[in-house]
Amino acid sequence: MRIFQKTWRDLPTNATTVFRTKQSRQLYQRAARVLIDGGSSPSRGPVNYGDYPIFMQRAQGCRLYDVDDNEYIDWMMGFGALPLGHADPDVTRAISEAAATGAHFATATEIEIEVAELLQKVIPNAEAVRFANTGTEAIMAVIRLARGYTGRPKILKFEGHYHGWYDDVLATSNPLPPGAAELNSPAVNIADSAGLNRHALDDTIVVPWNDLPALERAIEQHPGEIAAVITEGVMANMGVIPPAPGYLEGLQEFARRHEILFVLDETVTGFRIALGGCQEFYKLSPDIVTFGKALGCGLPVAAFAGRLDVMRALAGGTVLHYGTHNASRIGMHAARASLGKLMHNDGAAFRYIWDLADQFAHGMSELFRRKGISAIIQRVGPMFQIMFTDKPSIRDYREYCRYVDRKRYQRFSWKLFEHGVYTSPAATLHSIVTVAHSLKDVETTLAAMSAALGG
Ligand code: PLP
Repeated sequence: MRIFQKTWRDLPTNATTVFRTKQSRQLYQRAARVLIDGGSSPSRGPVNYGDYPIFMQRAQGCRLYDVDDNEYIDWMMGFGALPLGHADPDVTRAISEAAATGAHFATATEIEIEVAELLQKVIPNAEAVRFANTGTEAIMAVIRLARGYTGRPKILKFEGHYHGWYDDVLATSNPLPPGAAELNSPAVNIADSAGLNRHALDDTIVVPWNDLPALERAIEQHPGEIAAVITEGVMANMGVIPPAPGYLEGLQEFARRHEILFVLDETVTGFRIALGGCQEFYKLSPDIVTFGKALGCGLPVAAFAGRLDVMRALAGGTVLHYGTHNASRIGMHAARASLGKLMHNDGAAFRYIWDLADQFAHGMSELFRRKGISAIIQRVGPMFQIMFTDKPSIRDYREYCRYVDRKRYQRFSWKLFEHGVYTSPAATLHSIVTVAHSLKDVETTLAAMSAALGG
């Protein structure tokens, strides 16, 4: 591991001479007249950005440029949808060629087979594949599939896990206020949104994660009723919380024993942790796995895949899954180009991002130590989040809610904008190292972090 020799002060930051956001402010005023929250998702509006968000205009590699011409090193990378960075030339060419020859034929296409075959090559359990557009859609379809296949009504999910905005999984995926998060109290099933179907959460069992005895108890309380256990491989919506050693294997074993389908949601971890995602990395064999984000390399492409006997329940619409844009031709071409690059040289891209993330995490820990700031870097491979806490690690939802200073993180991320670095402004999200980042970007970011923390 390389040790950074220079002091942070000596390194150049990426800051433009003067950080101005006048155009962003004006655009927000215009946007707010026509778009709720000034955009198309609350997470892109004032909830995370304060008075108004930064309006981005163009990007290349790991650099983002806003409407006021500020330049940023981007560690958000489209919520993780850009494993190759912005405007990768091969992906861009594939998209342009597909667009120039027709976007939608209302029929099956060969490219769809090719991408499914590529997935079969890299995803250990992918006996059959079905494409969708977003992570939420894939999860919706899989829940219906699990119920249709098993004939059972209930699904089991975990506190702090987010699986999209579909009613049945919108329970306890937002953090609680610190004072409300008792440690070791029974799991809570809290609706994350108004307007859910009245009975949506009646069949949703919520259990603390990284706690095998709690999982076993919950399963035993509902004999023969649970169709699927759905889990993220790495908890990625409370910053980054890795699975405890043996946890996912234990979960898989309980699910098997009780004939419950094991659904691994790799919307975040797919094509990021490893070519075969958490499934490959933790040597798991889920019954069904879902993908989104990185699969389309910036375009809306999602998929679910798994055991043939389970997936066959979709045949002819027995378990119904439709979608005008499923396997969109342009998205499929982007996915093929991106997968080809990620597979190249036996997954060299993954070795590169793990190594660079090691160096980055080391540099950040060292920076916080030197400055005497209580903060830790939680990470798995290229996914990382800075947590302002005096705990040595954060192991679950309760600890996250209680011990992580989310407001302080948000202030820090806003300050980083001024120094030319774009990390997630939400403490619950995380940042990502991609092949578009270099050691120089890491060094520049560390210098910016140092400046943002006060010299
Ligand atoms: N599953 C996980 C683990 C996610 O993090 C997300 C989104 O962040 C989703 C599902 C939903 O994906 P999408 O936003 O594409 O609907």
